[in-house]
Amino acid sequence: MSIPLVDLKAQYATIKNELDTAIHHILDNTAFIMGKPVSDFEAKFGAYTQAKHAIGVSSGTDALLIAMQAIGLQADDEVITTAHTFIATVEPMMQLGLKPVFVDIDPVTYNIDVSKIAAAITEKTKAIVPVHLYGQAANMTAIAEIAAKHKLHILEDAAQAHGSRWNNQAVGTHSLATTFSFYPGKNLGAAGDAGGIITNDDAVAEAARLLLNHGSETKYRHVKIGYTSRLDALQAAVLTVKLKYIEKWTEQRRKNAAYYDELMAEIPNVVAPKSDKQARHVYHLYVVRVPRDREAVLQYLHDKGIGAGIHYPIPLHLQPALAGLGYKEGDFPHTEAAAQQIISLPMFPELTKSQMEEVAQTLHEAISVTA
Ligand SMILES: *Cc1c(COP(=O)(O)O)cnc(C)c1O
Repeated sequence: MSIPLVDLKAQYATIKNELDTAIHHILDNTAFIMGKPVSDFEAKFGAYTQAKHAIGVSSGTDALLIAMQAIGLQADDEVITTAHTFIATVEPMMQLGLKPVFVDIDPVTYNIDVSKIAAAITEKTKAIVPVHLYGQAANMTAIAEIAAKHKLHILEDAAQAHGSRWNNQAVGTHSLATTFSFYPGKNLGAAGDAGGIITNDDAVAEAARLLLNHGSETKYRHVKIGYTSRLDALQAAVLTVKLKYIEKWTEQRRKNAAYYDELMAEIPNVVAPKSDKQARHVYHLYVVRVPRDREAVLQYLHDKGIGAGIHYPIPLHLQPALAGLGYKEGDFPHTEAAAQQIISLPMFPELTKSQMEEVAQTLHEAISVTA
């Protein structure tokens, strides 16, 4: 029996009728751009995230690109973030001429090590971009304190963290803007690319809405050079259906993680993920650490049909596309060690106990065989 990293078919089966109806409704109306499906989703997502404004965008990457401009970042500004994330966190910075400045991660949570942020701040620093990696909120109390002290903006990359909380406060509470991805495999996923921005700031919301639609204030009057980065009505309709289930799915992910934790405790040389007591971890990914022979263990899992992955194998400071930033191997030891030792195990709401048992048993075998 093979077990995928994410099983989108299992999810579709549970909501097929509702989803098919919503999609056909859009097709029947042939109103594909903007309009009620998009504004309905935005209102509901805003309510879910407790934000004053929620803005649909064409992807999580474009959400970051637009949010960075909407909060006023400009060429040569420095932005502090981590190298242990998907490239999309910094791609928009490069396109806008901003300078990403990396700090190392906390080796337990894999999020930014807040004790190392202050040392990375210079006169040019304008913002901190925490990434709530794998679905676990970064330490927003500490980040908000540092940002207030140094007058920096916070832009949260919550692409993996729908419904995540820090100290019982939703992600997005502490920042000028927060972005989400609705890529199909994310916790709230569309049937294609989609993303969103939330903010409590009216001016940021207005600037973002202008930018994502050709900088048009009214039809054919363009006050800014913008983008074609609107959320599709079809995707909005899909997301509106799925949003009804996000809390149920999140609780299923958390239950699955708790069961995995029990199973991992029995396996030598495997470190289960740790959830900070102050965070509500929504387990976009369940990432274990295998300190020895990670490649052989991963190969064994693949050979047995377990869809394990690595998120992410090459830290951003060592990516060829970012060589111009001038970082080198050894700059971020915790980030580099994580990249060499992590394995993401299958994780999705519909995962069954027996599937998790098979994953754990296969991992146990892999560890014994490679020891
Ligand atoms: C998925 C992801 C993005 C990009 O989102 P897309 O919708 O794929 O463009 C950005 N940051 C992180 C951390 C992600 O996981």
